[in-house]
Amino acid sequence: MPTGTSARVVLLGAPGAGKGTQAAVVASQLGLAHLSTGDMLRAAAAAGSEAGLKAKAHMDAGRLVPDADVLGVLFERLEGLRRSGQGFVLDGFPRTLEQAQALDARLAPWGRPLDQVFEIDVPDDRLTARLVGRRVCGACGRNYHVEFRPPAAEGRCDACGGALVQRRDDTPAVVSERLAVYHRQIAPLRDYYRRRDLLTTIDGDRPAELVTKDLLAALSSPAAKGG
Ligand code: AMP
Repeated sequence: MPTGTSARVVLLGAPGAGKGTQAAVVASQLGLAHLSTGDMLRAAAAAGSEAGLKAKAHMDAGRLVPDADVLGVLFERLEGLRRSGQGFVLDGFPRTLEQAQALDARLAPWGRPLDQVFEIDVPDDRLTARLVGRRVCGACGRNYHVEFRPPAAEGRCDACGGALVQRRDDTPAVVSERLAVYHRQIAPLRDYYRRRDLLTTIDGDRPAELVTKDLLAALSSPAAKGG
């Protein structure tokens, strides 16, 4: 498979499984673009555009944003990467079978399909603990956890001093809705990628460094899937 800066990788996993953290590290180590649809939608909401505010209502309730809105922001970024030839790590997309099919249809004319898909697997009770305790710097976006990764000074970002906040969708009721949505959608996605022999499951209930090590090893292996 293409390695280094041209690989095309998808990270699947429930909310809180560590997709964002792993995607950022893997992308920076391999020179890939990190594409998080959640970050793109939050940026659109913060910018206050009509589409962004519509997306925000879905996000705050833990529901999926309609495909047309997600595909629009994502495909614009993919088009830029097609021109530059840079590979990518997709984080938070696809979330449904329809999105997976739309992605394949988009990549097909470029003659550059996906190389590998990982599912980071973490039990639900661990996911809930991770999400409900998560805090995010309102200024620079860095992640903390009240128990597992507390800041040096309570409520303040170590990096920039910004105030730490809880994402509206990390409250217990919304977390339980997000996990329910994930479990409803993931089975057909798993089947879809398994049939294409692209899927590798990684145990995500371990320290982040060990998960990264497995991901990088799988991506650099000559026997990697999709080769
Ligand atoms: P995340 O940051 O990946 O946990 O995403 C946060 C929220 O953004 C989700 O709960 C959805 O409301 C929305 N979202 C992110 N990615 C997608 C997607 N691929 N399809 C639909 N909604 C999405």
